[in-house]
Amino acid sequence: MNDRKYFLTYADMEWLPDNTAYSPQYDDIYWSRGEHAGLEEKQHVFIEANRLKQRWAKLTAGDTFTIVETGFGFGMNLGLCVRLWRALKTCHHATLHYVAFEKNPVNPADLVRLQTLMDKDILQPLIEKYPLPIPGEHPLWLDDNICLTLIFGDINDTIHRLSAAADACFLDGFSPSKNEGMWSGTVMRELERLMRPGATLSSYSVAGSVKRGLKETGLRLSKLPGYGSKSEMLLATKSGTWSPANNSPKKVGIVGAGIAGLFCAMALKRRGIRCEVYETSANPLGAVAGMRQLAVYPQLSTTPQISSLFSLRSFEYARAFYLQEKYYEQSGRLQLLTDSYDQVKARRLAGLCPESMLTYLSAEQATQRAGLPITQDALYLPRAGWIDPLQILPASNFSIESNCPISNISSRGVNWVLHGGNRNQPESEVGTFSHVILATGAATQQYLRPLNLTPVRGQSLKLTAAQVTPRTLISGRVTWFPEYAGCSTVSGTYSRDDSNLDVRPQDTEELTRALNQFANVDATQCDQTVGIRTTSRDRLPVVGEIPDWTRLAEHCQLPERRRQKEMFTGYHKGLYCAVALGSHGASHAPFCAEYLARLINDEPVSLLPELSPARFAFRDAGIKRSR
Ligand code: SAM
Repeated sequence: MNDRKYFLTYADMEWLPDNTAYSPQYDDIYWSRGEHAGLEEKQHVFIEANRLKQRWAKLTAGDTFTIVETGFGFGMNLGLCVRLWRALKTCHHATLHYVAFEKNPVNPADLVRLQTLMDKDILQPLIEKYPLPIPGEHPLWLDDNICLTLIFGDINDTIHRLSAAADACFLDGFSPSKNEGMWSGTVMRELERLMRPGATLSSYSVAGSVKRGLKETGLRLSKLPGYGSKSEMLLATKSGTWSPANNSPKKVGIVGAGIAGLFCAMALKRRGIRCEVYETSANPLGAVAGMRQLAVYPQLSTTPQISSLFSLRSFEYARAFYLQEKYYEQSGRLQLLTDSYDQVKARRLAGLCPESMLTYLSAEQATQRAGLPITQDALYLPRAGWIDPLQILPASNFSIESNCPISNISSRGVNWVLHGGNRNQPESEVGTFSHVILATGAATQQYLRPLNLTPVRGQSLKLTAAQVTPRTLISGRVTWFPEYAGCSTVSGTYSRDDSNLDVRPQDTEELTRALNQFANVDATQCDQTVGIRTTSRDRLPVVGEIPDWTRLAEHCQLPERRRQKEMFTGYHKGLYCAVALGSHGASHAPFCAEYLARLINDEPVSLLPELSPARFAFRDAGIKRSR
């Protein structure tokens, strides 16, 4: 049975008379009682026991420090770390990655209440970026060099997907006697797997079960004086000598300057990684080069699926990014419902989401939202909106080599060489890179051929806005955009397996007919544009390291038992792709790019097998992959 949810319920909270937060669900308090005791205890057990100040004083430019926390709660440990990190000069050119698990996210109203009780700067960075309680991972850049990855859900279900090299771990669940699951053998083993040589782990609890669980993993245990009335606390250390982690220098070649390639370049740039972008055509932006408005919204199915949860988290990430960059037009989006079957499904979906995300509207209410007559009931997404893709370009701040077709890719030692650039000399070398990302969209590239991606032709119109335009995005058979710079976009047709770039009169007619469903508009005299999107077999993007297809096929032929047991490792090291964003590039590309940048830069990342290029072969062979 699918027990997935789009939104986790916020933690039940009772505030005791002395302002300590109490969880009725776990029958435990979030921190020790007494004025300032919460912060002081956390400072003692986590910041000081792990010797963060001393270790951070040794950091140099380019170093990273990774903390993994079980039990994020109010984020007080994070707040203490951020305060110290910002204060230390040695940290200014290093990067802090803070990964935390949380099953019952604290309500933002409770975070704000706690903030009034302590130094404002402790919780402020979190409150500004706190995500909606959508299950799964939320990458949140608090500063240019501080990244919080919040993973919502039970740690026992999520930790095995985490790839990270932790320097310190904080065990901060409710007491083991009240919350056994948080201290399970699985959690301890997984934490040990994530720890670097010499990494430390601390816990306020010295319960026998905790000590046994940690000991069984091979970590070395020691006891330190506890905080307040607790005489002892635990410190566990992984064998080896700790030294700061420093990422190796990288140079990344990106093939394709469409939305996917551009966002990948931006995500790498923010990490100070050198990258070059190559584009076959004269202009960047690929399939959407002719468009001035791209819709941004999540694709939600009536029952939450891995794919719709991915879409929802990606949408939230993209929206936050665009808002920060100040080019998001949050117009809202009306999804018109065609028949009573649609209406039943829509009501069910609305019941799964808070009103701030999605509401069911009658035709009358929809009319008010749209500012023009709507004759059907609709689903309304107030957070949805649109962007002008041209605005991505000034923000991108890197060079794009246009008119530079890459005809071939070869490996040389540990590097990759791109060939082409000049149509007359297709084998000439364009550059050598430690990593290459194929963001080639519909152009079939040798390493992507086995994916059988499908080109989908789309034609759209640009109406001059002298005519009526909606106040929100309206989606029915076409999507109609609010007025922008004197125009309004109507997109788009879908012709699968079709890469023809000519404007077709029958497509214009189709768009006009669909548009006339909303309003009587004359679309004969307007600009038209055609782009080729690309989709995969399951309609999800394909993002990750590219497998050696021959080795993958061999792996899938192994006898059943070996196939299920053995982990496939035959990837082309350093060769990645970011393709098949379909017509959802603006909603999904920023998140996909952040994910890929983390894979490339060996940063903490919750692996998403649902995006892996190898997934189709695994699926066809009946292989289940959790990582
Ligand atoms: N570290 C927090 C801070 O600095 O504010 C306080 C953490 S609080 C003591 C423990 C947290 O663990 C709670 O927020 C609780 O919801 C969370 N938790 C309990 N069981 C969990 C589980 N199985 N997976 C993930 N989080 C869990």
